[in-house]
Amino acid sequence: MNQYLEQSTSDGIHEECGVFGIYDFGGGEVASTIYYGLFALQHRGQESCGIAVSDTEGPKGKVNAYKGMGLCNEVFTPEILEGLHGNIGVGHVRYSTAGSSTRENAQPLVLNYVKGTLGLAHNGNLTNAPALRRELEYTGAIFQTTIDSEVIAYHIARERIKTASVEEAVANAMKKIEGAYALVIMSPRKLIGARDPFGFKPLCIGKKDDAYILVSESCALDTLGASFIRDVEPGEIVTITKDGIQSDTSMCLPDKKKQARCVFEYIYFARPDSVFDGVSVYHSRIYAGRCLAKDSPVEADLVVGVPESGNAAALGYSMESGIPYGTAFVKNSYVGRTFIKPKQSSRVSSVRVKLNVLKEAVAGKRVIMIDDSIVRGTTSHQIVRMLKDAGAKEVHVKVSAPPFLHPCYFGTDIPSEEQLIAYGKTVEEVCKLIGADSLSYLQMNRLSELAEGLPICTGCFSGEYPIAPPKEDIRGDYTR
Ligand code: SF4
Repeated sequence: MNQYLEQSTSDGIHEECGVFGIYDFGGGEVASTIYYGLFALQHRGQESCGIAVSDTEGPKGKVNAYKGMGLCNEVFTPEILEGLHGNIGVGHVRYSTAGSSTRENAQPLVLNYVKGTLGLAHNGNLTNAPALRRELEYTGAIFQTTIDSEVIAYHIARERIKTASVEEAVANAMKKIEGAYALVIMSPRKLIGARDPFGFKPLCIGKKDDAYILVSESCALDTLGASFIRDVEPGEIVTITKDGIQSDTSMCLPDKKKQARCVFEYIYFARPDSVFDGVSVYHSRIYAGRCLAKDSPVEADLVVGVPESGNAAALGYSMESGIPYGTAFVKNSYVGRTFIKPKQSSRVSSVRVKLNVLKEAVAGKRVIMIDDSIVRGTTSHQIVRMLKDAGAKEVHVKVSAPPFLHPCYFGTDIPSEEQLIAYGKTVEEVCKLIGADSLSYLQMNRLSELAEGLPICTGCFSGEYPIAPPKEDIRGDYTR
């Protein structure tokens, strides 16, 4: 499975969301900066996107927002961006992991209440969202969306009536919500960022000229020419006002060893040019490849990666083993969200539409193919077949993650156990099913090394979750 190939196939898991917030103290317009920031986060969600902006010097609570279904460059035009005036704003790119894929569920959410207006963008899933939603509904709340982000927004709004500041309301809401969240929130005069106490999702702070930025991944700061300041700590609430950055760490876990960053951010979700909690995603992937070469060496003539996220691991394997690194796949870059999957009757494979094999590179060779994961196995089977059809003598598949054996409840679209090819099977059985000459996975003990010792979540591999799995299905009503 790989990031770009499988976004439109039934065999892929999908990324969650990307969030962006900015406050320009110099009064500059921020909508186009948010747009380019979201553009750099597009890999985290391609179903919908949106921008909400406000003017901190203007009337309190006046928010301009625009959102729609599709990629940033499909939803926004120069005219739409020019119509979004304001020096503070939040933005969001979404892939639905809870709640259906509709325009109403697109973010940012904009909420009008007695204290003004809140704009909120959320990445992650709450494990207690249904219970909190019911509780709110019984006290009269009427929801406009089916996403758990609205539950967060409601809780903040309700708490705000009792608290002296919006950041205090966010802290009180965090005492009730459980699960994974990276939040950016815009109030009339403040920009707030918060990360759940386990730190499942990334969030960092940057600065460009007079503007402070909160964003899911540091690669967006590079795109904007902004400098990286620091990561938001797991459990931390940062409040950005004209007086600078204030930090509230009251929700941070006393024992940092209990933090649980999603290790799959390093393996697959994040862009390789991002650094998450001080660990370079690129170096993690190189390291994973090196580990595969050390732990499960095999004789071969060529190491190739399944683009894009398998490439760095393939390079690492090559560096460690001395086996030459090469390119075996040519990807069609024009496969977007609206790609029409071929019907079975058309005898066209969607994998082949997206990816072709360079026969000249692989013919007559023993090939090691590195991929970041195998989910249902259908795509892996087709890619192995394509390499063999192109004349590869042997195909040895190495996966830069352990086998997926369990679902994720924290915002990643990993299917249920019975749909996971590795569930209930030996490695040899999976190898046979995908038609490879050999198969090996990254060893479990390598995961924490890959994150340079940071406490991580490994739930989908180990079944050991940092938070007890919810008793009811929180994965929502999928309509895609
Ligand atoms: S269960 Fe897997 S995908 Fe989900 S947060 Fe944990 S490591 Fe990430």
